[in-house]
Amino acid sequence: MQVQSRYIGIACPSCGAEKTINIPETLFTEKKFGHVKIQVPKGAVCQEHVFVVLLDIKGRILGYQTVDLSVSTPDAARSKEEAQAEVDESLGLMKFIKLLGFRCLAGLIHAKLFNYQPYVIIKKDVQMDMDEVNFFLDDVVPEMFRNHKALKHIEYNDYVFPTATYFYALVKNQRKAAFLMNLHKHIIQMPWQTGLDLEKGFIATALKNKDPIEQLKYLSFYITKFLEDVDKTKIIIEPMKKISKKDLVKKLKEIAITSTVTKEYVTSIKEFIHRRDSRDIAKKIHD
Ligand SMILES: [Zn+2]
Repeated sequence: MQVQSRYIGIACPSCGAEKTINIPETLFTEKKFGHVKIQVPKGAVCQEHVFVVLLDIKGRILGYQTVDLSVSTPDAARSKEEAQAEVDESLGLMKFIKLLGFRCLAGLIHAKLFNYQPYVIIKKDVQMDMDEVNFFLDDVVPEMFRNHKALKHIEYNDYVFPTATYFYALVKNQRKAAFLMNLHKHIIQMPWQTGLDLEKGFIATALKNKDPIEQLKYLSFYITKFLEDVDKTKIIIEPMKKISKKDLVKKLKEIAITSTVTKEYVTSIKEFIHRRDSRDIAKKIHD
């Protein structure tokens, strides 16, 4: 007999890597209520992390849990170099990745820059320090974006709505243009088409720095550099009627020499102009 299975798109909560994995249907049909927990081994979605994905009995993702393996390594068994290379994960960018998940953090940065209202759906009686997250977001963006599109929360009462995905569907319907996430590191609604590669790149590159203060500085630096490239693009296209993405990549490469200018990067610039400046100017850039 052929085993029925379904494909589910999963993202690593620690590094944002995404992959579609195959899950046997029996996992869901055997359950009548509650949720399904699947441990995703190293190598299945990304090469570095083990994590747990939580699904409801219909196979819809509810969220993720990270599995910390480093605590199982006894101190004595580690070399001096390994101990020094260990990053303090309670500080810098790692702190917010651990709290929010990699993709949700990237999404919050996108929402702030591209002008979308972000909400986190939090179960009743669960506490979250919203100020801390908003201070951090304000800290990494230039002044003109501060105190703007701050993260707000929506309370979720699981007594009134025993099925979380039903409640999520209601919120989505009420706030079609909002970025929605939950505290289980899961993006519930991403109202834009351009994905998260730009912000994921900012975070991943900033993380190459082990010093937590330097991480924030670098994140801020890459964001500022992107905004400068937006300004450079506006100057390039100002006298033009239209320009192809390919030609814009070429022109931008000549003047933005420290940036990695790709077609995707230019797509993000176009989206930024569309959201922040003018649809007509953005339309000048075409495929
Ligand atoms: Zn990972």
